[in-house]
Amino acid sequence: MCGIVGYTGREAAAPIVLNGLSKLEYRGYDSAGVAVFNEAENDIDIVKTKGRLKNLLEKTDSGKAMPGGCGIGHTRWATHGAPSEKNAHPHCSDDKMVVMVHNGIIENYQELKDKLLRKGYAFYSETDTEVIPNLIDYYYKDDLFEAVVKATSKLEGSFAIGVIAKNEPNKLIAVRKDSPLIVGLGKDESFIASDIPAVLNHTRDVYLLEDKEFAILTPNG
Ligand code: GLU
Repeated sequence: MCGIVGYTGREAAAPIVLNGLSKLEYRGYDSAGVAVFNEAENDIDIVKTKGRLKNLLEKTDSGKAMPGGCGIGHTRWATHGAPSEKNAHPHCSDDKMVVMVHNGIIENYQELKDKLLRKGYAFYSETDTEVIPNLIDYYYKDDLFEAVVKATSKLEGSFAIGVIAKNEPNKLIAVRKDSPLIVGLGKDESFIASDIPAVLNHTRDVYLLEDKEFAILTPNG
């Protein structure tokens, strides 16, 4: 178990994501991280830490040090690789174009990793998760949604994932299989989360994603 929260909208994403993660602490975790699309720098900032969410709040000035209206956050319960900053999510593709969080276990990750290594991708963590952003990057031409659909069709195991990409600011793609994920809709803002309490401060308009159902979230819906 662990927690995922994502936000795209008019507010600053990081404080909302961090607050949402605090509502998911009951699920247990050993490390945490957050990624936000920084419009001024046209880049995705990632901050991660081992241990409590409190450490992440300190590192990011409660999210205020990470400007931007689109972000994803994660509390990790390690299954592959030790609890460490390096193994904490979000993970990004080798070229830093695709950034994502994952809850679950990718059973065929070694096979996928070997294929990606042969195609020249480098890996920096010990997680099963890191194959996902690289696989999405591999399939990415000009449509993030299409690339996520192709990449997730190759995954065996369980996953709830939230994905953002440098080329498609303010868009968040989500999908789940055998791991929980909900979508929340507010006024000019959209959310994903592992469980409803994470978004209740912002909206009661909540939709439970079905298995293998995808969501494309923008500030408009
Ligand atoms: N299997 C992934 C990892 O070890 C995700 C763990 C989780 O669900 O928190 O990083």
